[in-house]
Amino acid sequence: MTKGTRPGHLPPASRTEDQGRVCSHPGCHTKLSIYNLSDRCWQHAEIVFPNYRGKRLVDPRS
Ligand SMILES: [Zn+2]
Repeated sequence: MTKGTRPGHLPPASRTEDQGRVCSHPGCHTKLSIYNLSDRCWQHAEIVFPNYRGKRLVDPRS
C-alpha cells in the first residue's frame, strides 16, 4: 500500500495568509475571507440585505 503520503508532506498553509486582508472599516480588524471580494467584512460591507426592517410583517411559513 504505497500512497506516498507522509506526515509533514502537506504544502504550507500560509497561502491564505498571503492575502492578509482585513476589514477597511476603521477599528475593525476582522480578517476577510479569501472568498470575500469586498474590502470590508460582511458586517461593514455596503451591501444591505433586504430585511424586514426590524418587523416581521408576514410569517413566510404561513
Ligand atoms: Zn468590519
